[in-house]
Amino acid sequence: NQGIGSWPERRLRISPHRPALWFEGRTATHGEFALDVRRAASVLQELGVQKGDRVAWFGANHPAALHTLYACGQLGAVWVPVNARLSAAEARYVLEHSGTTLVVHGAEHAGTAAALRAELPQVRSWLSAEPAEGADDWQARVAAAEPVARDEAVTHDDPCLIMYTSGTTGRPKGALLTHGNMTWSCLNQVLGFDFTPDERTLGLAPLFHIGGLNGTLNPTLLRGGCVVLVRGFDPAGTLQVIAEQRVTSFFAVATMLDAMSKQPGFATLDLSALRTIGAAGAPLPLPVLRTWLDRGVTVQQAYGMTESAPAGTVLDSADAVAKVGSAGKQQFFVDVRVVRPDGTECDPGEVGEVVLSGANIMAGYWEAPEATAEVIRDGWYHSGDAGSVDEDGYLYIRDRYKDMIISGGENVYPAEVESALRELPQVGEAAVIGVPHEHWGEVGLAVLVPAPGFDPATDPDGEGVRTALRDRLAGFKVPKEVRWAAELPKTATGKIRKPDLRHAYVLTEE
Ligand code: AMP
Ligand code: MG
Repeated sequence: NQGIGSWPERRLRISPHRPALWFEGRTATHGEFALDVRRAASVLQELGVQKGDRVAWFGANHPAALHTLYACGQLGAVWVPVNARLSAAEARYVLEHSGTTLVVHGAEHAGTAAALRAELPQVRSWLSAEPAEGADDWQARVAAAEPVARDEAVTHDDPCLIMYTSGTTGRPKGALLTHGNMTWSCLNQVLGFDFTPDERTLGLAPLFHIGGLNGTLNPTLLRGGCVVLVRGFDPAGTLQVIAEQRVTSFFAVATMLDAMSKQPGFATLDLSALRTIGAAGAPLPLPVLRTWLDRGVTVQQAYGMTESAPAGTVLDSADAVAKVGSAGKQQFFVDVRVVRPDGTECDPGEVGEVVLSGANIMAGYWEAPEATAEVIRDGWYHSGDAGSVDEDGYLYIRDRYKDMIISGGENVYPAEVESALRELPQVGEAAVIGVPHEHWGEVGLAVLVPAPGFDPATDPDGEGVRTALRDRLAGFKVPKEVRWAAELPKTATGKIRKPDLRHAYVLTEE
């Protein structure tokens, strides 16, 4: 087995007694972690999982997420992490589209799982990571299983996981990452962040996002360090874990760093063990960055995406202050360029599209060859991000060509929200634009033309619209503000002129 399923086995031989995973007061060594993964693989196998089958993880952060990931790797099965914030309808789409046959979910998702069970006959087994009323108990099965050593033939070209990201066409797309993609991305991260076997990295960001999974966490396990895993983000509790567990590194999005730095005890908190923070996924405002630098903590801004697993660029710790605001330089085994529409490289200071190439770039979108061909052209992944490099070769992310909003690190595609809006009986036409927001970075603003016969005076603030949307879309996708309009500005060909909307609704309000 050349895939990531072999990583725990390799650690079992090399450093079995070193700590691997801390969770709610209990630490598993690398040796124990490897045996837990073997048992998890035994459970999957007993339930009929075979090479190539898709196994979903649907929940907040929990050791079972890592156990199922690596167990899939041992069997050659494909791990499908599902965003825990999705509505039941959205989760259903991901499970159906990926052809998932077994789901392990968090206890908090037992209700959603029970509701989806009847609608998804293809899923043969549903298990709850922790005991939940009426649910098959994953933990009990794992505890009773045999830690069988396996050596399935898995190569770097075999699929490892499918991670869904929202799409410009309205439906999410599944980025297929191979074992080679995972390996090369994690090696890049080890080099870019100088991870050592003494690492104690905080598993804070959701594991169903690539930054949470491969930002610092899997690279640390690969390197033989320890993951300090928390279920989710709560600013005060997270800071306490950072201090008490002597956390040395973590990955976070700007919104998390902002919330933590505003906690009352932040200025005096013991951060002496904290070596570096990797920050990516959204633009990092300079004031947020400076609060952490002022506390003597290095913040390495990085740039990447699900499709690159997520290695792209990273700011070296030595440049954190001198090149503040930059996302750094390409990671060692990734080529990153800023190009003009004709593919030629931009001059310093000139803004162009950021493109990436390397062994970490996804194999493609699951069962979506056209969408794949749109973004991977001539061996380069086209990010849809606008950037420029300075005279010294440091990358700055300037803007986005793709119509996407990033709210608290979660990507929101207006196209997806607009199509959900248009399905509501009170909505005729809909356009969603991003509005700058101090804490979330950006939030969505919906400009709506009422459907014939609907009187917007009955829902002046759009609360009714927002409530109706919440059944269909994850909360972070629901626009924070709704405005009614008589018409939308359009081009001669009938396309909505978003720059005009931005002018009317965003710029006038600043
Ligand atoms: P995801 O696939 O969810 O990780 O989203 C990837 C996208 O997040 C990128 O294409 C960028 O638009 C955005 N992004 C990631 N890192 C940065 C960064 N350092 N600065 C600005 N935007 C970023
Ligand atoms: Mg993101």
